[in-house]
Amino acid sequence: MKIYNYSDLSAAELAKLVQRNVDPANEIRAVVEEVIASVQQNGDMALLDYARRFDKVELDKLYLDKAELAQIAEQLLPEQKEALQTAYNNIRKFHKTQLRKEDSVETMPGVTCWRETRPIEKVGLYIPGGSAVLPSTFLMLGIPARIAGCHEIVVCSPPQKSGKVNAFIAYVAGLLNIDRIYLAGGSQAVAAMAYGTQSIPKVDKIFGPGNQFVTKAKTIIQSTTTTAIDMPAGPSEVLVIADETANASYIAADLLAQAEHGIDSQSILAVTSTQLAQEVIAQVEHQLSVLPRAEIAQQAINHSYIMIVKDLNEAMSFSNLYAPEHLILATESWQQITGQIINAGSVFLGNLTPESAGDYASGTNHTLPTSAYARAYSGVSVDSFVKKITFQYITPEGLENIGPSVEILAEMEGLHAHRNAVSIRRK
Ligand code: NAD
Repeated sequence: MKIYNYSDLSAAELAKLVQRNVDPANEIRAVVEEVIASVQQNGDMALLDYARRFDKVELDKLYLDKAELAQIAEQLLPEQKEALQTAYNNIRKFHKTQLRKEDSVETMPGVTCWRETRPIEKVGLYIPGGSAVLPSTFLMLGIPARIAGCHEIVVCSPPQKSGKVNAFIAYVAGLLNIDRIYLAGGSQAVAAMAYGTQSIPKVDKIFGPGNQFVTKAKTIIQSTTTTAIDMPAGPSEVLVIADETANASYIAADLLAQAEHGIDSQSILAVTSTQLAQEVIAQVEHQLSVLPRAEIAQQAINHSYIMIVKDLNEAMSFSNLYAPEHLILATESWQQITGQIINAGSVFLGNLTPESAGDYASGTNHTLPTSAYARAYSGVSVDSFVKKITFQYITPEGLENIGPSVEILAEMEGLHAHRNAVSIRRK
């Protein structure tokens, strides 16, 4: 891993270092635009063709129904079912607290305003399944969708070599009471849910992380169709802030946990000690050598780096600029710096809180903004699956209280019909 000194870098150099997943030659965009156009024109035929081309599988139909999913799920071992159930319970418990009724407010006597929550009717969940199949993502999206009360939940995941989904995904479908999983991956799945095909229904909003093709497709369809997206949640990343109270082997494990996601993942360490930085590098090499996904992790580590900082405050400044998806504070002094966090998707505190806990089972959501989008986006929650509708009710007293101000404001804007809508009622 390359080492930089924070104090040696200019603002321009720093800005360049925190950039990730840019597509300067628009190569990804060109591929994705072609895929979207093809799905729009040819529907299911295009999906079958892309399954052949990208997933190397010949499909005879584009979905698995409930009975087929239940049969696939039978392969699960009891301890695997129990682990998924533990994750399900904790994620559900945490997300349940997010659905709160808001108070109504009487802004003036006789003028009452409030907000009510309604589920988004048709949602599409994308469950990645390229280099690793992620049943955890299915839980992270399906549980808040169910809590919100979405009426139709469309699920797409890339077909595996067997032409099916794996047993873990099938089991989670049962936990979430999902009727069908559509066998479509990548940008073609996003296009299918945005435009609808003969098999796959069009949805109002698409959720889920994915590789650069998935993320690019989501950002394109949100401006070209009436389908919204949760956020751009692309290749995973972690930023670890550490001082001399941290443990080099734990840090290395966390950096590698991120790196094994994909070759485009990024693992960054901001550390107050050069010696600790060297220990982490040695630990990364040592732990990497025995990982089954060492080849992928090595490539991600090759474009990751270490930033030497003067103190934890400087580390926080860098972190806020980077705006990481995951932020780990590997220091016993974490309570002193959490107040300085401005941009981050999800935060892991102290030396005994690995990011993996949040990835799978502690309860928080792992679908999070990447590539610095944490500056403006939040991770997925129940809020992502609902709309907040405002209501108001005005009594005769309220109309007298608020009417004159509205009449004057309408007059100021030259909108006489607006003024009349009040005046006609006051007469
Ligand atoms: P994926 O399901 O996102 O993508 C697989 C699909 O990509 C394939 O089905 C194929 O259709 C398409 N594809 C592959 N090569 C292509 C090509 N050359 N041209 C066009 N399409 C192509 O699975 P993945 O690749 O394993 O990626 C999952 C990603 O999700 C990883 O980058 C991981 O870091 C990320 N992730 C992010 C979060 C988050 O919250 N941000 C959470 C979990 C995972």
